[in-house]
Amino acid sequence: MAEIFPISPRINPEGASVPPSHAQTDEEARLQALAEHEILDAEPDPSLAHIVELAARLLGAPAAFVSFVDRDRQVFHAKIGLSLCETDRDVAFCARTIAQTDILVVLDASQDPRFRDNPLVTGAPFIRFYAGVPLRTGDGHAIGTLCLAGPKPRRAFTGRDRRILADLARLVLDRLELRRVEAARRATQSRFEHIADTSSDAIICADAHGRVSFWSAAAERLFGHTVAEALGQPLAILVPERMRGGHEGDLCRIARGAATRLLGRTVELIGRYKDGREFPVELSLCTWAENGHAAFGAIARDVSQRHMVEERLFQLAHLDTLTNLPNRAVLRGRIEAVILEACPAAVLMIDLDGFKEVNDAHGHAVGDAVLRLAADRLRICVGTTGVAARFGGDEFAVVLPDVGDPLVAIAKGQAVIDVLSKPYRVEGLVARLGASVGVALSPAYCVGGDELLACADAALYRAKMDGRGCARLFTPDMREIAQRERACRDGLRRAIEQGEFVLHYQPQVSLSDGTLTGAEALIRWQHPELGLLMPGAFLEVLDNGPDAAQVGDWVLRTACAQAQAWRQGGVTPFRIGVNLCAAQFRDGDLTERVAAALAETGLPAHALELEITETIILRHDPGVVATLQDLRTMGVGIAFDDYGTGYASLSLLKRFPLTRLKIDRSFVNGLCNDRRDAAVVRAVINLSRSFGLEVIAEGVETEEQRQRLLAKGCNEAQGYLFGRPMPVTEFATRFEVDRGRAHQSSTAA
Ligand code: C2E
Ligand code: CA
Ligand code: CA
Repeated sequence: MAEIFPISPRINPEGASVPPSHAQTDEEARLQALAEHEILDAEPDPSLAHIVELAARLLGAPAAFVSFVDRDRQVFHAKIGLSLCETDRDVAFCARTIAQTDILVVLDASQDPRFRDNPLVTGAPFIRFYAGVPLRTGDGHAIGTLCLAGPKPRRAFTGRDRRILADLARLVLDRLELRRVEAARRATQSRFEHIADTSSDAIICADAHGRVSFWSAAAERLFGHTVAEALGQPLAILVPERMRGGHEGDLCRIARGAATRLLGRTVELIGRYKDGREFPVELSLCTWAENGHAAFGAIARDVSQRHMVEERLFQLAHLDTLTNLPNRAVLRGRIEAVILEACPAAVLMIDLDGFKEVNDAHGHAVGDAVLRLAADRLRICVGTTGVAARFGGDEFAVVLPDVGDPLVAIAKGQAVIDVLSKPYRVEGLVARLGASVGVALSPAYCVGGDELLACADAALYRAKMDGRGCARLFTPDMREIAQRERACRDGLRRAIEQGEFVLHYQPQVSLSDGTLTGAEALIRWQHPELGLLMPGAFLEVLDNGPDAAQVGDWVLRTACAQAQAWRQGGVTPFRIGVNLCAAQFRDGDLTERVAAALAETGLPAHALELEITETIILRHDPGVVATLQDLRTMGVGIAFDDYGTGYASLSLLKRFPLTRLKIDRSFVNGLCNDRRDAAVVRAVINLSRSFGLEVIAEGVETEEQRQRLLAKGCNEAQGYLFGRPMPVTEFATRFEVDRGRAHQSSTAA
């Protein structure tokens, strides 16, 4: 037989170690088999005692016993007629019995050379007769014996006697096997209970009737019922009452042994704490057979914490943290899904008008509150069929599945504008905002999700161009415009960073004697690829972008510095005209910025003339008047540019603190051959006289125009006749300003 497990080598008398023999290996296995019965030092087993009694009676022996042969001793487990409990193994008759397969019979020990010197024979209890059968387990290990003994020798031990003793030994073995199985079961159970009670997961078992049969310490903590309360209760106590029909039914079916899809799986359901509180619980279920009946086990775990973490992660990934609206990614996913379902849909891009002003004027806390309110209104307006999302900043988007009709979509856009335009009450403030909406329909013009969003964005751009506060439906031509403008916007960013803007100066002259009175500063973009760009190519995009005020400020400071340089070169009087844009009025600090530019450059206030247009005036009424008033008080001139082209009424002239009207070049252009243009020019000149304003004509290209203007009483002009807008150096050369004298252009009459 091969050695299976090593045992410690024994030291032989000479002190050299020897490898364990097969006999030793067998002996260890035999001792192990004996230990498994848990009988050596156990209470006497009544059924063994009964067999021993039977043996003594049937075979007429004064003493009978079961002896187990341990490593160094024999232990009498059940005995009659014997006062000893155990002896050394050396003296044991049984130690010899177990070494043989058959029964050992010693009729007279005093006559037997093997035993005659044995202390049990020579002293108490004076054994003469002995008969023992080895108790051999199913695995072949002789763990002990069933024996008879007596103080008197016997003459015979018949074949029948031997058979009876052997049969009784078999009964002893059956009983021992039951004990072994029971001990093994007890070990498994205690192992299970230890593990179950140290596990942080609740472990619950139930019988075939669905009654709790095991309830671990963690189950007490998780569900609140003590072991005593839980044992015998139906599994229903695990779930809330309202769910008992469903889950309990399932659990009971499983407990009865029915195969369900829940088995072997981890399922999540609502658990119920003793006090009725509910919590999410994760269950792993299994069944097995126990004594021929189905048994049921569940491992349960509280997953509230995990839910919270998952929820938080979900929110971070899918929701905008400020408004709790879905974010861009969610909306995009929703749009893709709608497109996949081939269902018509409308996408609305929404931009709050005037949000930046509220944010700047009242701070971010108010701005955030306004955005949250706007998000709530949007959510309600969109309802459950659509999805509203925040795109960042003050931009929102909405997808409306099943809306394919342009009229319905535009009406929805208008509804959105209406709710978003209601006053916002925040911290005792009332903020008024508007909204612009771009609408794109799928599958009308747009195929992909991103394309649909881009189309809605292009339509939004148009809505803003059309004066904001309106909804516009996407049409294909918008795409190109939007693209161009986007490219332009990107280019403008770079232009600002790289300093690609330059100013050109157009001379303004006195019509009577042709002397230089000043210049208008006009912006140009020195584009690295496209060359010198005129304002018409980029100004609209710049004005609508975020950088308009910054660029306007740069124009102001540069023009003031240049004008002052020329004045210091001896050109006086010299006035510089600077065009303003609407954005410069929005920030509310224009007066300070103008004052700073003047202080920085040393230019006197009266040498600066700011040019404003009707668009500026009409967009921001109350603030603009106050600002202009302050500028006037400082001594800065205010010219009304392009006068006559718009709707500017007479009352405007009264309300605004102007110093000059600029006759638009379109009227000057028609002055000599169109009686209506001539009439307008005359009217503007008269108007300026009656309001005490100065007047200047733009776009004078011919000598005839110059003379007619002069005849009508206009004293100043600018135009190609006197000089085109030109770079600084050219201006200096043409007008010899660096030599201290101002000369009229040689082309002038
Ligand atoms: P504007 O203020 O009416 O400027 C006069 C425009 O008329 C200039 O066009 C100028 O080149 C052009 N012009 C001058 N004389 C004649 C002429 O005899 N015949 C013709 N046909 N045109 C003449 P420009 O430079 O292209 O500027 C266009 C507009 O861009 C300006 O109109 C002004 O509204 C705006 N702009 C220019 N520079 C600035 C600036 O620095 N800031 C702001 N906010 N706007 C500017
Ligand atoms: Ca101008
Ligand atoms: Ca003009």
